[in-house]
Amino acid sequence: MIKFLRYQYAFKLNKYIQMYTPVIGLEIHVQVKTKSKMFCSCSSEYFGAEPNTHICPVCFGLSGALPVPNRVAVEKTFRLALALNCQLNQKVKFDRKNYFYPDIPKGYQISQFDMPIGFEGSLVIPGRDESDPIRIQRVHLEEDTAKSTHDKDDETLVDFNKSGVALIEIVTKPDFRSTKEVLDFAKRLRQIVKYIDISDAEMQKGQMRFELNISLQKEGETELPDYKVEVKNIGSISVLEKVINFEIGRQSKLLDEGNKLKQETRGVKDMSGVTLEQRSKEFAADYRYFPEQDIPPVTISDAEINAIRESMPELPAERLERYIELGLTTENAEILIEDTDRGNYFESILESSTDVSPDFVKELFKWINTDLSGLLQKRKLSFSNSNVKAEDLMELINLVLDKKISGTNAKKVLEQLVEANGSGNLNTWEIVEKNNMLQSEDLNVSIDEFVTQAIKQNPKVVETLAKNPNAIKFLVGQVMKLSGGKANPIEVEEALKQKLGM
Ligand code: ZN
Ligand code: MN
Repeated sequence: MIKFLRYQYAFKLNKYIQMYTPVIGLEIHVQVKTKSKMFCSCSSEYFGAEPNTHICPVCFGLSGALPVPNRVAVEKTFRLALALNCQLNQKVKFDRKNYFYPDIPKGYQISQFDMPIGFEGSLVIPGRDESDPIRIQRVHLEEDTAKSTHDKDDETLVDFNKSGVALIEIVTKPDFRSTKEVLDFAKRLRQIVKYIDISDAEMQKGQMRFELNISLQKEGETELPDYKVEVKNIGSISVLEKVINFEIGRQSKLLDEGNKLKQETRGVKDMSGVTLEQRSKEFAADYRYFPEQDIPPVTISDAEINAIRESMPELPAERLERYIELGLTTENAEILIEDTDRGNYFESILESSTDVSPDFVKELFKWINTDLSGLLQKRKLSFSNSNVKAEDLMELINLVLDKKISGTNAKKVLEQLVEANGSGNLNTWEIVEKNNMLQSEDLNVSIDEFVTQAIKQNPKVVETLAKNPNAIKFLVGQVMKLSGGKANPIEVEEALKQKLGM
């Protein structure tokens, strides 16, 4: 395992003498999907808006302005804390985290210090035993900062639209031992926040951001390293991956050369994942936390917690498990978990179907993931606005499974359903009937005739069959044509082989 990691990470393998295991912890910030900001009524849908158009005295940090906590943001933080198996602080208390920066106009950020909403949680990730999850240290609620832009004239421009948007911070214990584990966790967490509807987690909009701490443990050592390197401002999962690999390479090299690594904070240079020194952290930043006196603590009752608990949907890992039990492969189930649009459509059909046999479920996945997906993509439609009704798709799949129509014709039916996009008057059955696509008993008789005909008309192809058995596909195509697309290609191939003695 460690050897594999070294091959994956090392740039100049032969230079490294020792083997190392990375020790990684994560800090994730997620913007909460709320109509208004955390402590004022400004709209939090600021993406793409003119700078400084979503501001008021509260989020602009004017003295005397009074913050009022956003109830929805508090509830959503409890939802996430529950999803991450956390202990809860039902008394919600806010604190001031003091530091100066142009994007923090008050001189402090309203956050939570000693009483985070969630603490001591856990999340199981693929490849790790249930008894060995990633431990979650805390889940707390705070406000986002403004956005500084350093322009070419050495000036700093500040846009306060983002200032005060509700933000959840999740901190893990340093429990990751490989890049893959970190990426699996980041993806699962992103799925969870989408499932429980606390954020759209769109990275390109800055709705989910990462910071990590990473150090290397020498082979055979049991104690954690005596240093850690923090990397801030990582805007996407792909950059996160590159940063970890870069740091493993950089730190291995320094350790091999006999250097002692120092505690430091590094920034990301660009999308390549290269990190640069920012400031040495010999002294931990002293934020002089103290209680936010403008917001009295509120206690969330047991009844309210129970109501939140009861409103929780099925979580990604649970859905994954259920799909695997229904007969999907882990890989296919993961596709549906990751792509919520596709997954929710699949789920909606499953919900209204009486048939959940493995055959039906596999066929349903196949039709959604290949044919329907392709047809929608071509028309720039998503699954949620495809308007292909559950009963129509179900009927189509049952016709295919019962071999009542051919695969070729089934595709044509689906195309017509997508084309109509819900406005058509015809359902699956009507399209099949109107186009005379049903494979009747008579067809079996005529297939025999068509097979004979196709063989007679293509003697040269028949000759090459001994050398090139694949040429039978050509004959299948000819029979399909003769049958007007009604025949079942699998049956046609069987009939051909029988007749040709293959
Ligand atoms: Zn405001
Ligand atoms: Mn934070």
